[in-house]
Amino acid sequence: MSCLFCKIIDGSIPSNRIYEDEECIAFADIHPQAPAHLLVVPRRHIGSLAEVAGEDTPLLGHLLAKSAEIARQRGLTKGYRTVINTGADGGQTVDHLHLHLLGGRHMVWPPG
Ligand code: 5GP
Ligand code: ZN
Repeated sequence: MSCLFCKIIDGSIPSNRIYEDEECIAFADIHPQAPAHLLVVPRRHIGSLAEVAGEDTPLLGHLLAKSAEIARQRGLTKGYRTVINTGADGGQTVDHLHLHLLGGRHMVWPPG
């Protein structure tokens, strides 16, 4: 499997792992866009949000709930942003579903 995030999950590419369980892992983004910038990634390869199936609904809930838990643990009491980029127009550059968790600075809206 040539997928970058699958290699991070199997450990063949190193990462700064912050959290892991049976369903997902969270690690620091290599090019942080905020003081806290983590990627929350399902262990199972799913190309993007556009490729999820009905059976993935609990997994999506798990990714969101864990993101909130990680944000709490990291003391992001003033808030944070969760983002899923999907496809070319969405700005997705790694084709393995992932949720960005960004915090530690004030975010603007709309994003660029
Ligand atoms: P996307 O643009 O697909 O939503 O997000 C992909 C993210 O993966 C980017 O924020 C990028 O900085 C991050 N990224 C790309 N390659 C690596 C890597 O090798 N290690 C880590 N930790 N993050 C990466
Ligand atoms: Zn993958």
